[in-house]
Amino acid sequence: MIQVTQTYLPEREKYDTYLNEIWNTGWLTNNGPMVLKLEDRLRQYLDIKNLNYCNNGTIALQIALKALNISKEVITTPFSYVATTNVILWENCKPVFVDINDTDFNIDAKKIESCITENTEAILATHVFGNPCDIYEIERIAKKNNLKVIYDAAHAFGVKYNNQSLFSHGDISTCSFHATKVFHTVEGGAIICKNDEVNRKVYLMRQFGHMYDEYFSIGINGKASDFHAAMGLCVLDDMQHIRDRRSWVTAYYNERLNFSKLQVPLALPGTEYNYAYYPVVFSDEKTLLRVSGALNKEGIFPRRYFYPSLNNLPFLPERTASPVSESISSRIVCLPLSTYLVEEELDKIISITNNNL
Ligand SMILES: *Cc1c(COP(=O)(O)O)cnc(C)c1O
Repeated sequence: MIQVTQTYLPEREKYDTYLNEIWNTGWLTNNGPMVLKLEDRLRQYLDIKNLNYCNNGTIALQIALKALNISKEVITTPFSYVATTNVILWENCKPVFVDINDTDFNIDAKKIESCITENTEAILATHVFGNPCDIYEIERIAKKNNLKVIYDAAHAFGVKYNNQSLFSHGDISTCSFHATKVFHTVEGGAIICKNDEVNRKVYLMRQFGHMYDEYFSIGINGKASDFHAAMGLCVLDDMQHIRDRRSWVTAYYNERLNFSKLQVPLALPGTEYNYAYYPVVFSDEKTLLRVSGALNKEGIFPRRYFYPSLNNLPFLPERTASPVSESISSRIVCLPLSTYLVEEELDKIISITNNNL
């Protein structure tokens, strides 16, 4: 069986070495030595100053909204994982969907300003599949209208834009280190803050809002354990290998899929990609179902990322239209992409796909 992704597992002996250390120190969680080490190494690897490791990418977004005092309207993208919309609703804010562009499937910055009202407080946009949003235009709009910017950068680990970590943009960027992501700690996430004061707030909110006997703010339990951090330290060692393998798979698809009948997102110039996903857009939903059905029969399971378009979630308080997102959502799948795929498997995926277009 070939799934859309297969989690990278590092050498067992290396992980065991970290486990031995945990058994020796007896320190399992609460900013233990492995958590601190992982945070340090991630700051270095990504070349960013402020990074808080946390227990998942969803809590990371919730803490971001809280730390920036967002309580009203949030402009957001309808083309993302459901968590992006869920956190806005969970924090009792109102999501205002701005449609995506049909080049990289990110929020269409040109359409943002007409959706700003007196209640708009923030823009929460996803760098979907790791491709950068129009960050300079979003920054301009945010400054002019006094809005906070949060990037759901769950897919963007290691992506550079104009030679800078994509995480360095926005007031806060969040990442997910879930097992399905390009870098993982089994479960995990990160909150990256531009401003030191906000970073301090995030640090405290992640651990119930207090340090020892001093209580500063409301908080939540967003802490990740040393067991998770240890996995991260092992996987981080192997990032070059992970990137090379994924880049090879991507090139293999690029050379052989029939692009006269398939669309792929095109990233902005200046993007140094992380090979997180391999999305393809079919001409219509019927073709998608035909190709998926044929692949499924052979034990190959691509995923409909992202479907449905989030503006159509059944539990939203009001219904709005995002025609571009709805159209892309109905026609897109992510093909299998992992470090473990081999030529024969890829040949099979490619021929079944091309033969059913
Ligand atoms: C994976 C993902 C999340 C959630 O991250 P978790 O670590 O699973 O909580 C949020 N947003 C996007 C876009 C994602 O892909």
